[in-house]
Amino acid sequence: MSVLDKVRKLKATRPQGGGESRLRGIFHQWKDGDNPIRLVGEFVEVRTHFVAPAPKRGERGLCIPTAFQGDNKLPQVVNCLNWDVATEEEKAEHTCPICKLHAIAVAALKENPDEDEKKFFDKLRQETNPRPSLKWNIIDREDPHVLSTEGDKETKILGLKIATVGMEAWGDIEGIFEQCGFDITDPVDGVDIKVNRGHNGTRVCYSAQAVIEGTSLKVTPMTDEEKALKPNDLKIICGKMVDSQRMVDALHDDLRQIYDFNVEEAEAAAPAEEAKADAPADAKAEAPAKAEAPVKGAASKKEEAPEKDEKQALDDAISEDGDDDGLMGGADDAQKKS
Ligand SMILES: [Zn+2]
Repeated sequence: MSVLDKVRKLKATRPQGGGESRLRGIFHQWKDGDNPIRLVGEFVEVRTHFVAPAPKRGERGLCIPTAFQGDNKLPQVVNCLNWDVATEEEKAEHTCPICKLHAIAVAALKENPDEDEKKFFDKLRQETNPRPSLKWNIIDREDPHVLSTEGDKETKILGLKIATVGMEAWGDIEGIFEQCGFDITDPVDGVDIKVNRGHNGTRVCYSAQAVIEGTSLKVTPMTDEEKALKPNDLKIICGKMVDSQRMVDALHDDLRQIYDFNVEEAEAAAPAEEAKADAPADAKAEAPAKAEAPVKGAASKKEEAPEKDEKQALDDAISEDGDDDGLMGGADDAQKKS
């Protein structure tokens, strides 16, 4: 292949070309109260883990605070490695260390734990539970702009943002779809909805309803300008995987010990789940191999990985998600149940 061919091929495989790859502010953040939005196109379902400490809630989190600082910082919300964002299905091979901790906690709770152990593993079970949510392109009716950066010049342009819709809000949105009986994302016949971010006394909660004008639905045909907006590639932008070993390394010491110790235990004790991995006689020898598996996945993803600015934006967004305790927080269940 000639150099030019390679250059062209590389260009063609980039998710977005030129100026468009330098968009900032594409991640929508729900504010308190009503958020009027228009849903655009199809959503992508993701599964995530909130792995950072949450000082506001007095939670130490799964990982050490220093893992979220510096150049090579871990995102506060990581994609579950057992979930395939491309196909939106659970993967056949389970390599997610956080889900492994979850399985260990569930197993420990079945073994007649004492009071302290029960408390510890109950919390661990809740903290490690993968959270489903939907990533959706939206028009933010209150601020439909994103930032386009060219050199050191930054301009506000009309653009679609990416919203994270948790299952609580989704329950309402699904209801709106049902009540309306048509595709509310339709460019011509679609309607705006408002997502409300509130607090029920113990935690942040979300609800959604269609925007009403007078006594009927407010139909909001998209303008030509809005129709021409390029949707963000949700699978690429929201499908970034963190290497499994990086997650394991960042765990609090006691959790990493539980993880290390129980990798062998869990494999020996639960052949049903691990049998298909066809473990060699020495389970310990297999553990590192398993840990490496997602690296390959990550490597192949890197070929179409976003540009650096997007990567930064993604990290920022993930931090934003991290603060968004109602949607992504690992401690919601804990708070509900305690
Ligand atoms: Zn997981």
